[in-house]
Amino acid sequence: MRSVITETQAPGRAGIRKKPEWIKAKIPSGQNYMSLRGLVRELGLHTVCEEAKCPNIGECWGAGTLTFMILGDVCTRSCGFCHVKTGKGGELDWEEPARVAKAVEELQKNNALVTHVVITSVNRDDRNHESACIFAQTVNEVRSKVPGIKIEVLIPDFKGEAEAIEKVIESSPDVLNHNIETVPRLYSLPQKTQSGRTRSVRPQAVYQRSLELLSMSAGRGNPAMLTKSGIMVGLGESYEEIIETLTDLKCAGCDIVTIGQYLQPTVDHIPVSRFYHPVEFESLKNYGEKIVGIPHVEAGPLVRSSYHAEKQVLELSRNMMTGT
Ligand code: SF4
Repeated sequence: MRSVITETQAPGRAGIRKKPEWIKAKIPSGQNYMSLRGLVRELGLHTVCEEAKCPNIGECWGAGTLTFMILGDVCTRSCGFCHVKTGKGGELDWEEPARVAKAVEELQKNNALVTHVVITSVNRDDRNHESACIFAQTVNEVRSKVPGIKIEVLIPDFKGEAEAIEKVIESSPDVLNHNIETVPRLYSLPQKTQSGRTRSVRPQAVYQRSLELLSMSAGRGNPAMLTKSGIMVGLGESYEEIIETLTDLKCAGCDIVTIGQYLQPTVDHIPVSRFYHPVEFESLKNYGEKIVGIPHVEAGPLVRSSYHAEKQVLELSRNMMTGT
């Protein structure tokens, strides 16, 4: 299957390429949005929805769901696509797991349809082992406070430290997610931003290391635990490279893979190379599932790893039952 080449869009006023008409975000507002904002502030928590300027915040928060970001709000890495603050991480907070559990309990009280929670974090390359312990403790606290809720962790690579990865696997989340983010060629390839900086997509990460983490999850985790990963497109990758990456993720044992459009947060970040049309996402989904053999691929312009995460798991079970 060949991709349909989409017309590139003219740069907008701020120098950021204008989004095509199929990328429309709902403006955050309403009662649910306000009460979730109040809850995270009151409990001193952070969400990746806000910190990464996710375009889906209006929709997700309006529906009563969000993605917690633990280990502080400062990341020790400097990925060229990400809006989260970077710098030296502060003290780790060992009370954070209990506050996340309290927040999950409140989310479910407000909306019984919240059956799946996603917990991610910044990278804390200075404190990998403790970071993994806090992840595991968060899984345990949420499970004991809100039994029955599905817990998905979207974890960093802990610099490949096997003990740290094992620690999270042992806590047996329902889904262990680690994003490979892009194709290997782009990890450290220098790209120019409109502000004049030279940045790359994942300069401190290692493609093979991320694949090994996913293989560990698929091979050593509780058999019921799902392994998931995701990539963004629009960072300069070729169609063939996407297919190779999907094949690597399949070989690593991923049950679910998400594919979404990269959106440039500011002129200081890597520019969008092109916008993929919804039809192309549909083709990538079909190719990933039917040719590559990944059990469930969620693909679309606004798909993010935590977007409709509970539906991704349901779709996977449906695919397995129907053998598609
Ligand atoms: S897609 Fe994920 S990060 Fe974005 S608003 Fe929804 S829950 Fe938050």
